[in-house]
Amino acid sequence: MKLCLATHNQNKVIELRSLLSDHPDVEILTFNDLDITDEPEENEPTFEGNARLKALWAAQQTGLIALADDSGLEIDALNKEPGVYSARYLGKDTPYPEKNEIILDRLKNISDRSARFISVVAIAFPQGSKPHLENTDIICCEGIMEGHIAYAQKGSNGFGYDPIFIPSGFNETYAQMSTLDKNKVSHRGQAFRSAVKILIGKGKL
Ligand code: IMP
Repeated sequence: MKLCLATHNQNKVIELRSLLSDHPDVEILTFNDLDITDEPEENEPTFEGNARLKALWAAQQTGLIALADDSGLEIDALNKEPGVYSARYLGKDTPYPEKNEIILDRLKNISDRSARFISVVAIAFPQGSKPHLENTDIICCEGIMEGHIAYAQKGSNGFGYDPIFIPSGFNETYAQMSTLDKNKVSHRGQAFRSAVKILIGKGKL
């Protein structure tokens, strides 16, 4: 059985693969494996909107059941920024250590450090006639990890905003956790686990 994971990010394949360890027959194909070089523009105002449009686009391109996720970090004291603009916030090409330092500076004298990572995974089940697959059913799953922003960057694992985010119930940042431990609690781990349950429930795995 083949699934398309609508991404060029190999880290996401590793995460999904580890959640599918009981299903070795499932082949996860990313845009890299399928020689798809472009991606649709993520121009929706919500995580769900972007996840849906990517999953539908991937199903239309491949004819496969397609999973797509859209994630980001909301910081309460920054009016929930960077939110849906997490990838583009402070400049698409600005290195994350710099972005993280700017965020820490903006929060310098602020005691409310509350924040959360949100991930929405959309699963598109292609149906209808090609190329539009107009009857395609799309189901979304959400994962949320509450936490707070640290006072300094810590840790070198992971990516993006990991060095400044401390998940609730932990004393270390996402970047100080092993990938395995992060996935057990992370926003995307939660959303991917719900997606796997849906695929099993629909008899697709
Ligand atoms: P994507 O939509 O999942 O590719 O994520 C969009 C952006 O959100 C990324 O470029 C990161 O800036 C941020 N982000 C999402 N998930 C994580 C995470 O697990 N750790 C750190 N940053 C993340």
